[in-house]
Amino acid sequence: MPPIRVASILKNACPDECFTVKGWVRTRRDSRRGFSFIELNDGSCLKNLQIIVDADVPGYADVIRRVTTGASLEVEGVIRESPGRGQRIELQATALSVIGDADPAEYPLQKKGHRFEFLREIAHLRPRTNSIGAVSRVRNAISASIHRFFQSRGFLYIHTPIITASDCEGAGEQFQVTTLDLPRLAQQTTQIDWSRDFFGRPAWLTVSGQLEAEVYATSVGDCYTFGPTFRAENSNTARHLAEFWMVEPEMPFYELQDNIDLAESFIRTIVSDALEQCPDDLDFFQQRIDSSLLDTLEQIRSSDFVRLTYTEAVDLLQNSGQEFEYPVSWGRDLQSEHERFLTETHFRQPVVLYDYPRSIKPFYMRCNDDGRTVRAMDVLVPRIGEIIGGSQREERLDVLVSRIEECGMNPEDYWWYIDLRRFGTVPHSGFGLGLERMVQLVTGMANIREVIPFPRTPGHAEF
Ligand code: ATP
Ligand code: MN
Repeated sequence: MPPIRVASILKNACPDECFTVKGWVRTRRDSRRGFSFIELNDGSCLKNLQIIVDADVPGYADVIRRVTTGASLEVEGVIRESPGRGQRIELQATALSVIGDADPAEYPLQKKGHRFEFLREIAHLRPRTNSIGAVSRVRNAISASIHRFFQSRGFLYIHTPIITASDCEGAGEQFQVTTLDLPRLAQQTTQIDWSRDFFGRPAWLTVSGQLEAEVYATSVGDCYTFGPTFRAENSNTARHLAEFWMVEPEMPFYELQDNIDLAESFIRTIVSDALEQCPDDLDFFQQRIDSSLLDTLEQIRSSDFVRLTYTEAVDLLQNSGQEFEYPVSWGRDLQSEHERFLTETHFRQPVVLYDYPRSIKPFYMRCNDDGRTVRAMDVLVPRIGEIIGGSQREERLDVLVSRIEECGMNPEDYWWYIDLRRFGTVPHSGFGLGLERMVQLVTGMANIREVIPFPRTPGHAEF
């Protein structure tokens, strides 16, 4: 029978109730008075279950030696009120057995307080630590909250393809997918004949499900995708992964400000849900990772986001008196240092920037009448910078086609996307949220590699 989980025992159990629990040993201490304390964790919550094993438990002397950090155990026992500090109850063992040993000479997680860089090298064991265990639970809560947010508003969850032949803004950042025999081709001097590849043409891993989501938004209505996304950007930053999870809602009949309203309530709902559902894990992050975490999250939950145009932000940055590594000038993309200055130093709360120069944004964003800007929006949050990027989409056939040409692409490659503007076109909007950046925001973890189970970054794909 599956055991009762520790989270449920700690929450609900009363003195004199009997349970069988199973989990992994965090620590064991032997008292000189002939009994042992075991801290057992089964991943269901941050807290351990304290287990008292008296010397008269059958087989005590033999079994207790094998109760070492990392070993797996089955324990039967009775709940007692705990006289010790730090826990309400403890389990007084009546039977104890080791399911799997963990040799203390070899188990790498003996001591506490390993560096995150080291833990990445043992990604198969790191979820057994307090911090990565807590990240896993928060990531789960956020994922569930994302689905709830959209489901409760009648959005359809759609699954867009992972393999795609269209290169949505991804120039040079895409992983190619091929079944061609590359070593053999490398020895031939001839040009590659893509018609002999699996799909009869070049194909890549998706950088975004947006274009396909637009197809569904303009037929079934409000919808969202939530899936893996791939970018071969060779940037070793603390907020970029080569494989990450993106949530992309797409809404017909939404204009830019409607889109921003939705993005704002989306982020505030996720933060608010995390505060309510993961209080122990967030307290842990507040104590161990970032002492301003709970203030930041409360602030996000309780106050409106600041909204200003890209042009206003450029003026503000130029007149701020702040020294930046990269200069700010109208028409250039803002760097992370600029975004963080706005949200961390100047406004000290989330900031939405909109109406960006059209020259730095992709072809599908709706052109404004000024001829220089498009209806793009980015949501910036403290410590991360950009967490959401979105836009109102160009719904006018002629403008879209000339924008595709202006961006140096061939409209024929986008024939089906263009068709959406030929047959019953409507104004529509959407955005993309990087799940990992959201988990970073909620946990305070400094590096994005700590908030995904098995990070893929340049040179790293083990596990
Ligand atoms: P950045 O400027 O930070 O590289 P971007 O503008 O290229 O991001 P978008 O194309 O707007 O990103 O993607 C939407 C969202 O996806 C971003 O706001 C971010 O939350 C997330 N995201 C983008 N690239 C990555 C990445 N390499 N790793 C993790 N999350 C990412
Ligand atoms: Mn962006």
